[in-house]
Amino acid sequence: MASDALDSLLKENRVFKPRQEFSKQATIASLEEYERLCELSQKNPDRFWTEQADALTYAELKSEVGRFSNVLKNLGLQKGDRVIIYMPMVPELVVAMLACARVGLIHSVIFGGFSSTAIEDRLHDSQAKLVITADGGWRRGKIVPLKDNVDFAIQKAPFVQHVIVLQRTKQKVHWNPQKDLCWQELMEKNGSVEAEPLALDSEDPLFILYTSGTTGKPKGVVHTTAGYLVWAKMTAQWIFDLKDNDVYWCTADIGWITGHTYVVYGILANGATTLMYEGAPDFPEKGRFWEIIDKYKVSIFYTSPTAIRAFIQWGNGHPEKYSLESLRLLGTVGEPINPEAWMWYHKMIGKEKCPIVDTWWQTETGGVLISPLPGATPTKPGSGTLPLPGIVADVVDREGHSLPANKGGFLVIKKPWPAMLRTIYGDHERYKQQYWSTFPGIYWTGDEARRDEDGYFWIMGRADDVIKVSGHRLGSSEIESALVSHPFVAESAVVGIPHELKGQGVVAFVTLVSGQAPSETLKDELKKHVVTQIGALARPEQIRFAKQLPKTRSGKIMRRLLRQIASEGKITGDTTTLEDISVVAALSQDEE
Ligand code: AMP
Repeated sequence: MASDALDSLLKENRVFKPRQEFSKQATIASLEEYERLCELSQKNPDRFWTEQADALTYAELKSEVGRFSNVLKNLGLQKGDRVIIYMPMVPELVVAMLACARVGLIHSVIFGGFSSTAIEDRLHDSQAKLVITADGGWRRGKIVPLKDNVDFAIQKAPFVQHVIVLQRTKQKVHWNPQKDLCWQELMEKNGSVEAEPLALDSEDPLFILYTSGTTGKPKGVVHTTAGYLVWAKMTAQWIFDLKDNDVYWCTADIGWITGHTYVVYGILANGATTLMYEGAPDFPEKGRFWEIIDKYKVSIFYTSPTAIRAFIQWGNGHPEKYSLESLRLLGTVGEPINPEAWMWYHKMIGKEKCPIVDTWWQTETGGVLISPLPGATPTKPGSGTLPLPGIVADVVDREGHSLPANKGGFLVIKKPWPAMLRTIYGDHERYKQQYWSTFPGIYWTGDEARRDEDGYFWIMGRADDVIKVSGHRLGSSEIESALVSHPFVAESAVVGIPHELKGQGVVAFVTLVSGQAPSETLKDELKKHVVTQIGALARPEQIRFAKQLPKTRSGKIMRRLLRQIASEGKITGDTTTLEDISVVAALSQDEE
């Protein structure tokens, strides 16, 4: 080497640190992590290389679950105690759920997109002694501050004794030495000791999952041990036709019932190979799902109609870059799928060879009740087809009489099934009233449907005030409660309107307290307020200011009219019970 070149190399002292933006999304995100890996590779090469070589095996999962359940026992938790889990989509989330199940603790998973106020409500309702969370989760290259949200939520919850924090995103978080415990340290200290599984009664509660209903507060749907698991295992096997060599991928977050039953319990009970992912379908680029399918040779793919509509919008160029040849079965869940989206899924992703299972079910039903069986049932785009064996479903009129083919009515289930919810946590009366009182002895789904001449079910949407945004369930009254908690809002009424991508979007009619005037700034502030109170998924598409809201003579807000105004801009039909017809005229004119 020429001597001046050598000289300049010897003098070179410029340093380029990785850009924070890059590190944030990198697999190895810090020098500390690099050093930890180096140390592990030296001290325990077997473990290091095994970690690099494997996907998680069932044996490892069992040992992690056994160890973590011992950690839970050592904290003094007793059978029946509630544990809130608020974590990203990482294997430790599954470990936490199964560890609770192993020693009889009732878990309640909260979707990572919910805000601290939403956690607070669920904490108070469940009176959980323990919260399991992580410092953060990853979403589109940014950290979701899970621990911060928990810190805020537990401020007024003295009954929470401990918060276990998984170190995941590794940013600095506030640490309360009285309550906070580090997951990794607890596991390290625990060593290899595994708690014995506790024998439970078939009817002991397995979990509580909060979901939206018609009141301002979410309800805690309670599922029990044996019946839920039988249904979860059986339906997963029948509907997804699971085989030993399948690689199954459900894109749902475990914070929803789909994740509980068809990411965790039903799939693991079948011993299947399942794929979990953290993040978003369009990050780092819009072909992410198809890349994952090719990379891991996914054979069964289960996602939502909203995701499919987004793929269509993003263009065929993305899936066309991939072979997708490993796929043999496709599924959808969470909301009605429009036939065009179904056809696109069938052609573009399924290459016209994969059956599509359009699965109808609810948080309350625990598992799928209406779905094609892929080797047996001819499918029709947009129909969930037929009830599964053991399910007696019907479409009835207001009096509960069965309706003839092609007449729309209420979807009901006439016989019990093993995975049905057993109660609403702490409110058995509400359970009886909500699900069993419309037609005594018959389960009320809250959905409207029709059955065609072949007996196929077509779900038409909700009969109540539940709104489905991107397949996520929200209660009108929950969003209304969030809005009226803003000091400028006197009253509000929230309705769902059709949305091209999300299925439904949220429109909020708002009256202001005297002295406050409508403005664009206030609209933005109110939208943000809803996000802070509930989470980004509840953000209204539109805020419409009104001088008054249309009410019946008995004072009930007439949402049907508001829904029509919001989606069609006018009202048709009967308005004879309206207290003041001029209110409606004023609302129809008020544009966003
Ligand atoms: P969730 O409890 O959040 O899963 O919401 C259940 C509701 O989602 C049901 O009552 C339906 O309104 C809707 N839903 C779920 N799956 C389907 C489907 N395959 N087709 C139509 N609607 C569905």
